[in-house]
Order: sequence, then structure tokens, then C-alpha cells
Amino acid sequence: FMEAEKEGKPREAAGKILMATVKGDVHDIGKNIVGVVLQCNNYEVIDLGVMVPADRILDEAIAHKVDIVGLSGLITPSLDEMVYVASEMERRGFNIPLLIGGATTSKTHTAVKIEPQYKAGSTTYVLDASRAVGVVSGLLSPSEKVRLQAETRAEYVKVREQFARGQGNRARSSIAEARANAFAPDWSAYEPPKPSFIGTRAFVAYDLAELAKHIDWSPFFASWELVGRFPQILEDDVVGEAARDLYKDAQAMLEKIIAEKWFEARGVVGFWPAQADGDDVVLYTDESRTTELTRLHTLRQQMPKSQTQADGGRANVALSDFVAPLGVKPDWMGGFAVTAGHGELEIAAKFKAAGDDYNAILAAALADRLAEAFAEALHRKVRTKLWGYAPDEPFDIDALIAEKYRGIRPAAGYPAQPDHTEKAELFRILDAEAQTGMQLTESFAMNPPASVSGVYFSHPESHYFGVGRIEKDQVEDYARRKGWDLKTAERWLAPILNYEPV
Ligand code: SAH
Repeated sequence: FMEAEKEGKPREAAGKILMATVKGDVHDIGKNIVGVVLQCNNYEVIDLGVMVPADRILDEAIAHKVDIVGLSGLITPSLDEMVYVASEMERRGFNIPLLIGGATTSKTHTAVKIEPQYKAGSTTYVLDASRAVGVVSGLLSPSEKVRLQAETRAEYVKVREQFARGQGNRARSSIAEARANAFAPDWSAYEPPKPSFIGTRAFVAYDLAELAKHIDWSPFFASWELVGRFPQILEDDVVGEAARDLYKDAQAMLEKIIAEKWFEARGVVGFWPAQADGDDVVLYTDESRTTELTRLHTLRQQMPKSQTQADGGRANVALSDFVAPLGVKPDWMGGFAVTAGHGELEIAAKFKAAGDDYNAILAAALADRLAEAFAEALHRKVRTKLWGYAPDEPFDIDALIAEKYRGIRPAAGYPAQPDHTEKAELFRILDAEAQTGMQLTESFAMNPPASVSGVYFSHPESHYFGVGRIEKDQVEDYARRKGWDLKTAERWLAPILNYEPV
């Protein structure tokens, strides 16, 4: 890809492909790489960019007379939107191939949810950029397309059957049983640490050079589909040379980003008195703990455990278990939102306008890395100073990346709290928009794209886990706590429902 990019793009297109990231998602390095790879292989790519609504995607597909529509999605709420685009293609009489890709998508979701909506055309899941050219050339080949589409259809029938079988034996505990087996640390023997302040503190123009030292490089290579741990990847037999070239270019650009202040890093951190109230955590405005600032809602694992904790088994965990319950003893919680993305879109646009897709993607990937590094650096400051419960922790960067420290910073939309909408209250209590210029999209993706947010728990036994699939009894309960109707809850929790909603 990098070689082809340097040699320039070929002339006569072998086909026209429309690509878009669906409504609500903010940036998409993977899709940009797919676009460049296709262009380098002689396809004309019309990239509508990000946050594109269904009707615009389909209007443009008609206007440009494209041969294929490719959709990408990054966060779970975009899964539903892709199903909708497929149903709209059917309704509007399309029959051209539909490609599905992006971080949250999967072959199973494509086969189970998307393909059945679009009977008039074919739907294909594309695992990564390296497969895109093979799939596209097959689907446009007069001699192969019929066979390939039939093969994919047959494969997806099998995927659906397998999925249906899996559904059958996925028993869940009731939410009452799960709560009875909650993770229960011994609160009597433990004093929760008190933060050095209550309320929020903002950071503007955070030192980019300091952030650069906290970068975890392994995910950087993964975003370019070079798989392996850093730094060993630089010596890898297969991808080592490509990884070294990329790393050299990244280091050179990083120096410029710092020296010329391409991006501005801004963040905010907050701490509040907090008590668990069932599966919610109540945050209070001050130490009198009389006025509720907000409630954070958490979800509990409902997979049946063969033994309860009392018998040495595992708990059915919810994040609220890591905070002392009401009336037990005073506890606290924290939250944060950080971005390294101010300037990111402008820089990428500048490279793109100059026809330099490679550096446009590199700049976006480095902004992402700096944002994650910001979350890492700030978390360390929280443990050692701001919350201050681990003032002397001895960890170097590798130990931080390996999460050797005490406490966690779970992010909404991740396995321990799959509900992206929980970012809304976090942003409100942090005053994140005013303090950092960060915003939430309609599907609760963050803008600028190179942003990270989450909550802090300090308990020594707090840990990451996956909620897994949940039953309707918990969804109904969660809907009540969130002030939603059942349908709204089922929409936001769609990827983790253990049942088919009506
Ligand atoms: N070094 C990595 C850090 C980001 S990934 C990087 O630079 O990309 C790890 C982060 O993802 C955690 O800090 C946490 O915010 C989130 N995370 C990981 N597992 C999680 C889980 N099970 N539940 C909630 N958040 C999780």
C-alpha cells in the first residue's frame, strides 16, 4: 500500500465503489486504509466520509452509478444503522453488492442481522483492508460473481444456523440471582481513600512531549493491520520491514506534531463522594452527601456461575460492586475526559487535499495514540497525586501498559459497561464540553475523534470484566432506572441482549 501510494494512482478504473461510515461515527482510519488500498488497485473510490445518513449514502450511490456500496461502523450503535441501510437498499430497489466492515462489525452480525434485510443484492462482510481487493474484484468479475455470491449466501445460512443453535443453550441467571451473587469485597476491613479535591479540574494545552512518552505503540501497528507486539514487531520476519518504515515515519511526524503544536491536548478530571445503591452508583455534590449530583448506571453479568462465591466460585460482577454501598462507609468515584484531537481533522484534511492519503492517515493514527497516552498519563497522576491512593507506585511505561497498577478506568461502550449513553451524564458532571471542547455525537461517539473518557475506581480488587449477554428482566430494570421505555433500552443494549426483542 505504501509503495503503491508513492508511485501514484492508476488511470482507468476497474469499478466504482462508494464508501461511507454510517451516521453517528466520527472517524475511521480502517475505512481510509481500505479506500487507499482499493484506489491503488485501480478502483475509483467515492468516499462520503463519516456520520453519513442512509438516504444520503443511497442518493449518492445512484448519482455516481457505483458498482458497490461499502459501509463502515465503529461503535455498537452503528450496527443498527447498517441494518437500516440494508433495508433501505431493498426498499429502493438496489441490487448492487453491499460490503460491511469496521471495528464493531462481524461476520455473524452481517449474516444474522444485515443480509436478511437485503434480498435483491448480495451482502459480504470484509474482515480487513487486505481482503477488500479480493472481495471487490470477485464481486465485479463477470465470470466469478454469481458463484461467489452463492457461496457467501450459503455460508451465511450456516452462520445463522450456528448462531441459532448457540442461542438455545445460553441460559442466564435471573437478575435477582445474579445480584445475590454480586462481587462483595470485605468493606469492614477496608478504608476507601479520599481524593485531594471534590469537583473538577481542567487541563489545557497539556504537554505533548510528555504524552508522547506514554504512547503504547502496539495498537498503532494494529491500526495499520500490522499484527505483533511492539518493539518485537520491528524485527518480525514478515512485517518487520514495513513496521520499521512506518515507525520511522511516525517518529518524524511526532516530532513535528510536538514542535509545531499540530494538536492541542485538553482534558478534565473530577472526583465525587459516591455510594453504591444496588447496581447504580449515586454521586453527591459534596461531603454532606445530601444532594445527588447524578446516578451512574451499571449492568450486571447474568451468566450462570457453577458455584457461588461462598463456595469458591466467581461473582456476577457489576461496576457498582467496586464502590461501598449506601450506609456502609464513605467512598468516592472519579471520571475523566481527554482529547488530543483539536487540530486533527484540519491536519488530515490538509494532507488529503494535497493527495497525500498516507500522511493524512498517519496524523489521525498519531492523534489517537496521543489521546490514549493522555488517558494513561492522567490516570497515573490520579493514582499518585489527585486521588493519591498510590503516591509511591514504582511503575515504568511498560508496567502502565500492562495495567499493573491499582484501580481501573472503564470506558462506556466497553465490555464492563456496554451502554454508550452513560457518557452523557459523565460529560455533564465534568462539564466536558466547556472544559475540553469535546462533544458527543447522536450515537455517543466522541468528537474530536482522538478522545477518551471513562470513570475511575480505586478499590484494590476492582478489575475489568465483560457483562456478556443479559436477560429481559435486567433490561426492564435498567430501563426503569434510566427513565427509558423498554424499546429504547433494547435499542441501546441491542448487541448484548440474550433474547430477540419483539
Ligand atoms: N494502552 C492502550 C490503552 C487503551 S485500551 C492503548 O494505548 O490503546 C485499555 C482501556 O480500554 C482501558 O484503560 C479501559 O478504559 C478500556 N477497557 C478495557 N477493557 C475494558 C472493559 N472490560 N470494560 C471497560 N473498559 C475497558
